[in-house]
Amino acid sequence: MIANLHNADIPKPVLEVIARLRELGHATYLVGGCVRDMVRQVHPKDFDVATSALPEEVQKAFRKVIPTGIQHGTVTVVTGGNHVEVTTFRSEGDYLDGRRPSSVSFERDIVKDLSRRDFTINAMAYNPLDKELVDPFGGQVDLPARLIKCVGSALERFSEDGLRPLRAVRFSAVLGFTLEPDTRDAIPATLAVFRKVALERVREELCKLLLSPRAEAGLQLLAETGLLEVFLPELARADAEAARLARVATQAAPLDLDVRMATLLADLVTGPQARELCMRLKFPNKSADLVGLLIEHAKLETRLSDTDPSLRRLLARVGPAQLPALLAVAQARVQARAPDQLPALASLAERLGLLAAAKPPLSAKELALTGGDIMSTLGIGPSPKVGEATRHLVEAVLDDPSRNTADQLRALLTAWNTTRSD
Ligand code: ATP
Ligand code: MG
Repeated sequence: MIANLHNADIPKPVLEVIARLRELGHATYLVGGCVRDMVRQVHPKDFDVATSALPEEVQKAFRKVIPTGIQHGTVTVVTGGNHVEVTTFRSEGDYLDGRRPSSVSFERDIVKDLSRRDFTINAMAYNPLDKELVDPFGGQVDLPARLIKCVGSALERFSEDGLRPLRAVRFSAVLGFTLEPDTRDAIPATLAVFRKVALERVREELCKLLLSPRAEAGLQLLAETGLLEVFLPELARADAEAARLARVATQAAPLDLDVRMATLLADLVTGPQARELCMRLKFPNKSADLVGLLIEHAKLETRLSDTDPSLRRLLARVGPAQLPALLAVAQARVQARAPDQLPALASLAERLGLLAAAKPPLSAKELALTGGDIMSTLGIGPSPKVGEATRHLVEAVLDDPSRNTADQLRALLTAWNTTRSD
């Protein structure tokens, strides 16, 4: 059929790759997410090309081709610095383990390729040269109806690949769509297959859901379908009100993954537990550490009347670079839990901002004395006592940053030394 699609400004290199393959007699289309987005009048993030040409034929058709995933039929055509992913039409053999197909075969027919795809809205192809839309499963009907619906039997498709139910919920959160009833009902029935999915793949979908405009609804749907219990029992088993507040807070947080994870978990687990949980879900170490740290200090509403020295100690523990993230987590939580405290929290945020802007010394390396200076003042060599002395000085400047001069620190050291018996 002839489609009236969003004038998506399909990149020229993509059009050229399609034209070249067609010239050689190969059926070639845009497929998947980009077609879905063009049909719903949204500019696609990236453009995937599918073709009847075999990977070797694609390699021969262009000067520079990277065999990105050639065993699955995917190569990357490089044209003038642009990368275009081209995948040979595929069908998949039986799924034996709920994770990957036992075999992949190359196909000559686009409909075979579309029929292995997950949802009707993701199973359309578009030929931009003839403006021809291939839509064998009714994606064009489900898009305006705002429905996520499996291609074929939901029970079968979810039993093949256990990740698909999570993708269904993720797309529903990202697009603001509803799960078609059979698709939704198939989720609890196939949880045993979902349990086998690698946690890296789960994390990827969870991250997209958390960063979607409807994270709150997405999280609720995860809970209702039983998916959440499988990979985030800490949230799934929380009492209903605690879980609701966690969802509302997450939705209120800025679109930053670590901030949203920390906001989601801050009132359900401790910092170290959150760190473990993130490691379990295969988050990068750096993220796991940050989420743990943010949660450890997230409850800023308990520090509204802290003194400056105490707030400087907080800055020292969190690191001034993490202050904006910490404030974001605290603010989202308070907005969900006790919005009347927001003005007081804003004043605290302002105080913390001013304290950080003054760039006070927060650690040993910012002291006006080096380790060598400390040893010579005390007349000792390297020993545990140097560490103790250093900590004493750091505490002193956290209490009062104006003490951070060489003379004052030397005087402090001498006084400290005389109070010690050794
Ligand atoms: P996004 O805009 O989030 O990238 P997308 O539709 O491009 O959305 P991808 O995860 O990039 O989603 O997948 C690209 C396409 O590959 C999908 O549109 C779908 O047709 C197909 N696909 C991806 N994962 C699966 C799966 N597990 N089972 C079946 N088809 C899949
Ligand atoms: Mg994509």
